[in-house]
Amino acid sequence: KEPSKAKALVAKLTGKEKDHPPAPPTEVREPPSSDRRNGAIYKTGRCLGKGGFAICYEGQLAGTTQIYALKIVKSHMPQKKMEQKFQTELQIHSKMRHANIVQFHRAFSFDKCTFIVLELCPNGSLMDMVKKRKYVTEPEVRYWTVQMAGAIKYMHGKGIIHRDLKMGNIFLDKDMNVKVGDFGLAALLVTGKDWQAHRRTTLCGTPNYIAPEILAKDKGGHDHAVDIWSLGIIIFALLTGKPPFQAATADEIYRRARELEYDWPKLDTSENYISDETKDLVAAMLQAPEKRPDPDMIVQHPFFTCGWVPQAEEMTTSLRERHPD
Ligand code: ADP
Repeated sequence: KEPSKAKALVAKLTGKEKDHPPAPPTEVREPPSSDRRNGAIYKTGRCLGKGGFAICYEGQLAGTTQIYALKIVKSHMPQKKMEQKFQTELQIHSKMRHANIVQFHRAFSFDKCTFIVLELCPNGSLMDMVKKRKYVTEPEVRYWTVQMAGAIKYMHGKGIIHRDLKMGNIFLDKDMNVKVGDFGLAALLVTGKDWQAHRRTTLCGTPNYIAPEILAKDKGGHDHAVDIWSLGIIIFALLTGKPPFQAATADEIYRRARELEYDWPKLDTSENYISDETKDLVAAMLQAPEKRPDPDMIVQHPFFTCGWVPQAEEMTTSLRERHPD
């Protein structure tokens, strides 16, 4: 009994647990709606993970074999900021439809919580993958980068900037395709001034992926280029196991990013070979915003032709063989 009491107290003091909803009951009822007049029942399964204020469970739609990810948040959050973040997420995510974006199915309220029914990504995030594997190979990065560039092209084409692309927000479906998720910080393209104000109130999480111009006072009309910067960081981190500007404090990370102070690690095995083409692509993505390549330019880069790109089947078999559950 004592340890759990202590844990609860620590959670209360640090405020880490208070915003999370409780575990859902074994059956969650979606109320009737115009397109589902009898409502629906989801049978809840394993917990998929916890985020800043959401928890995710598997949910099987009763009477079917279909399993979804149920993302659950409290309907009334103590902090208005969080409630706002969640509203943005719902609004933007529900309008996205792309093979490499976690599909949003529906949202409803039940038991003082809001449930979002999402496409299930049973293989975790790129962060989980790198934690397990230490780093991934260039062919795998080619495969995923084409998909991520496709998702970014789609979002930008719709006037949406994601602004929080990072390994922990990019999930893997059952076939090892990447799916961009978590639209909590996404925004419609807005003027620099509004955006700065918005950013100040929403800036949270890891500093490693944040482009320097977000922190600078002045910015031009290249807002969407922040997602390309983040993609450069993701590619570096996938191949080496850590983000390029990693440092003990956020300020130090920002300084290193401003000064583009990063080094590719020395090779220790042929497995984590990093080609000059890769280095060139990442360097291009980490330039000043107006110079960064757009998604079309990215997929034209020699990085994609200097080595092989796996076929879809190879992604699942090779990864599973190397990492059986
Ligand atoms: P938050 O917005 O609070 O950060 P997340 O969206 O990151 O919450 O979700 C919390 C956790 O739930 C994630 O870290 C991940 O482990 C899991 N998760 C989220 N979406 C999915 C999904 N579509 N499929 C599988 N697991 C998911």
